[in-house]
Amino acid sequence: MNKQQLITELQSNGLKVGATHLENEAGQLPVSSTLDAVLLNPQDLSAAARKGGAGPSDHKAVTVDGTTVMVPIFTSTATQSPYQTEFDPVTKQTVLKRDGVNPIPISFPTQPQFYRLTTADGTPYWKIALLHSHDVLATTVLQTCMRYSDAATSCQFCAIGQSLEAGRTIARKTPAQLAEVAEAAVRLDGVKHLVMTTGTPNTSDRGAAYLTECARAVKAVVDLPIQAQCEPPDDFAWFQRMKAAGVDSLGMHLEAVDPQVRARVMPGKASVPLDYYFEAFAAAVDVFGWGQVSTYLLAGLGDDLPTLLEACDRLTQLGVYPFVVPFVPITGTPLAHQPAPSSELMMALYQQVSAMLQRAGLSSQEMKAGCAKCGACSALSTFETQD
Ligand code: SF4
Repeated sequence: MNKQQLITELQSNGLKVGATHLENEAGQLPVSSTLDAVLLNPQDLSAAARKGGAGPSDHKAVTVDGTTVMVPIFTSTATQSPYQTEFDPVTKQTVLKRDGVNPIPISFPTQPQFYRLTTADGTPYWKIALLHSHDVLATTVLQTCMRYSDAATSCQFCAIGQSLEAGRTIARKTPAQLAEVAEAAVRLDGVKHLVMTTGTPNTSDRGAAYLTECARAVKAVVDLPIQAQCEPPDDFAWFQRMKAAGVDSLGMHLEAVDPQVRARVMPGKASVPLDYYFEAFAAAVDVFGWGQVSTYLLAGLGDDLPTLLEACDRLTQLGVYPFVVPFVPITGTPLAHQPAPSSELMMALYQQVSAMLQRAGLSSQEMKAGCAKCGACSALSTFETQD
């Protein structure tokens, strides 16, 4: 099995993490090397759904053969996974085994230095921003969403409020706090880019104004590439304002594309027509450039392969990077028991989307900042480099 297949299988099946390894992590900060919050895509807004305390979360950053990827653990799918880690206390090496055989050495990113710091007002830095994968700083600037509290409008895969309720984050990160944490994360841990997402506020700019303010504050203290993520604003002039403030790339996330699937899994967001997203994509590419605008597509929410491929084709022709990601059912959300997509579906998707990326001259490496550049929640970037 090659690396692409292994990562695809791990992300679809999940991983059982051996008890010894978890014991090693117990007692660390609640957002240690585990991915407490894949805060940055809608399912990720949910991944703040840890099991609580200092133990496991639903995802974990795992480095396999030099590539760090996010792998579901402790989801209902993961408990059935043929993949398991074992820690050898003598060699101090963790290995990954499938059905108990064929060990492959793996490692886990270590806890960053900036997690030890606290702001002058007493807020731990890890409540303001997290390390994602191994070199990405990630934050949700507004941890509330106008769609979240009402079942008639909330995205079924999202749990943006869970980490807030559990006291693992704060509702609003101020521009000054973000600047302080970003500077420290660059200086102490060498983070390479910053991803700033937001819950959607009940304003017509859909969060673009606050992201602009935050980006300006960060860029005033540290030269760190920034991706902002929000719903399409009412006025596309926000794209220019964001860029002028220091946002280098932009994410606007479709998640699903079929109208029936959108209406079922994200009834509130489905009120924003798909055509409006595409208008926004075209306007954003004009400002940020070819390949600097991206969108999440969550395979496994209900869209079939042809629908996803058609959307990816349309996106790549516009210069938008379709970041296809396997849906990860998160504990505590309405879709917690929806099965993850099969590795066969993901392989077919990755192979065909990577060919589209190549034809359109799009690449994760060329992106200045963001989830597509990080790539850890998907195996897509590993397919880009396939011979
Ligand atoms: S792709 Fe990277 S930055 Fe984006 S949510 Fe996943 S781990 Fe975080």
